[in-house]
Amino acid sequence: MNNSPLKSITIVGGGSTGWMTALYLSKLYNHSSNIIDIRLIESKEIGIIGVGEATVHSLRFFFAAMGLDENELLRETNATLKTGILFRNWMKPVDGKMHEYFHPFEQQKPSGKIDNASAWILNNQINESNSTPFAEATSLSFSLMQNNLSPKTQYLNQYQGIVPYGYHLDATLMAAFLKRKATQAGVEHVEANVTDVLVNDGNITEVVTDQGSFKSDIFIDCTGFKGLLIQSLKNDNWQSFETELPCNKAVAMQREYLPHQLPRAYTTATALSHGWAWEIDLTNRQGTGYVYDGNSLTREQAEAELKAYLGDEQEIIRTVHLDMKIGCRREFWVGNCIAMGLAGGFIEPLESTGLHLINLGARLLATHLTSSNPSQAIRTSYNTAMNGLYTDLRQFIVLHYCLTDRDDNEFWQKAAQSSAFIPALEQKMTLWKDKVCEYVDLANGYSSVFTDENYRYVLYGMQHIPEIHIPCPKTEISRILDNLKTQQFRAKEQSLSHQEFLAKIKKN
Ligand code: FAD
Repeated sequence: MNNSPLKSITIVGGGSTGWMTALYLSKLYNHSSNIIDIRLIESKEIGIIGVGEATVHSLRFFFAAMGLDENELLRETNATLKTGILFRNWMKPVDGKMHEYFHPFEQQKPSGKIDNASAWILNNQINESNSTPFAEATSLSFSLMQNNLSPKTQYLNQYQGIVPYGYHLDATLMAAFLKRKATQAGVEHVEANVTDVLVNDGNITEVVTDQGSFKSDIFIDCTGFKGLLIQSLKNDNWQSFETELPCNKAVAMQREYLPHQLPRAYTTATALSHGWAWEIDLTNRQGTGYVYDGNSLTREQAEAELKAYLGDEQEIIRTVHLDMKIGCRREFWVGNCIAMGLAGGFIEPLESTGLHLINLGARLLATHLTSSNPSQAIRTSYNTAMNGLYTDLRQFIVLHYCLTDRDDNEFWQKAAQSSAFIPALEQKMTLWKDKVCEYVDLANGYSSVFTDENYRYVLYGMQHIPEIHIPCPKTEISRILDNLKTQQFRAKEQSLSHQEFLAKIKKN
């Protein structure tokens, strides 16, 4: 086996995936003693998908590891901060009011003899008539969200928050920002259309473009849903998740703000008739869209439903219709080609995980891409890990649907049954009727980012609450919940309003 050092990498595709990967690999490999040629080829005519505007909290660590100035990143991408997602209408209305629950990013460490969730459940049993929703009782982010406060104080350093936070950012501006950083870091940028992919003995030898041909040790496929490179190496390499997650189309709409309307520091995901609508606030405009089941609604119906939901007060800047492929590769790494981002797989963006999976895929390259001709064992290890991450995420997204009590049409009736496609989830949901969800219940999986805490916010937000009988003294239960209230109060006292924070970074 040829175990010689890696000399060259060619990335095809210049969307978020291509440029995040290029920047990451150039920072990883290229320092004075170790230079690898990294080239990125992108087609100007084809362009990028240009959606994908909310992130999970772990993206901060990617940007920080790349040495990026957080304030510059936020300014250049018209970004705002995100403390979580407000889910609306995922269950039947309660007392005539739309059902809502909040899913923050934070992990609240237990402060007493029992964990916070058990304390909350036992307290509800004692005070039947006055039960505060789980996030409201336990999450600091909830109190920030309610008051449109940011997770930042006057004194925190970059990438630090009182609670974990993600971003809302303009996807097109982010790709441009990362392009600048990556080319400054030495990545060669080629604008060309790939017209052919030459393969020999299970490896790509060169990509042919209208500007010439390019050889390389390793090729990274970042060409979006089509997976141009990986497709040329292996057919029958796609596993679809569309039976359990049927939303395979989206209509995205950008809107102007109304005068005096302020950007919210959280994403909203409102369930509609055949899917759900996102609302993501940037500093200069709002991104909205409807992710829907394309087998049940036409484009026109989806666009009309989204417009009816949004109302006509705010001017629409742009409308785009998108087809989505829900699922992932069986093998992300075939021969000398690795498929990343949409080329590798995609699960509907309900928890804003697209960029996060690119981050994880790139980080796994750091440990796996160790020579010019990696062994089959390396490829298998990478493929197993990536498959685990997608399987884990698929389970978490299905959880949001299968807990619904909505039965107003076939889409929601089927959604309520969707856990049947994931027996491991069904087993856990049975278990979670009798005990709180905790780390050990999920410990065998490849947690993409969502832990027992995240599961709890969805489970208890959607009323899947266990019946438990723990003989814990009332005083201990009150102490735990009072302690959380004090922490919520302190968080509110310390934090800057979202508006104050955005004004502050504009000036710097
Ligand atoms: P693309 O942006 O499609 O880029 C493909 C690149 O390949 C382009 O540069 C193109 O020019 C190039 N290319 C293609 N063919 C050729 C060729 N023949 N020759 C040369 N170059 C070529 N993610 C999140 O993290 N948060 C979200 O909130 C979120 N929301 C989403 C909402 C929707 C509706 C969708 C569909 C996705 C969302 N995502 C989200 C996912 C996110 O958009 C993607 O993960 C991200 O944009 C990365 O896309 P990409 O770079 O893989 O593909």
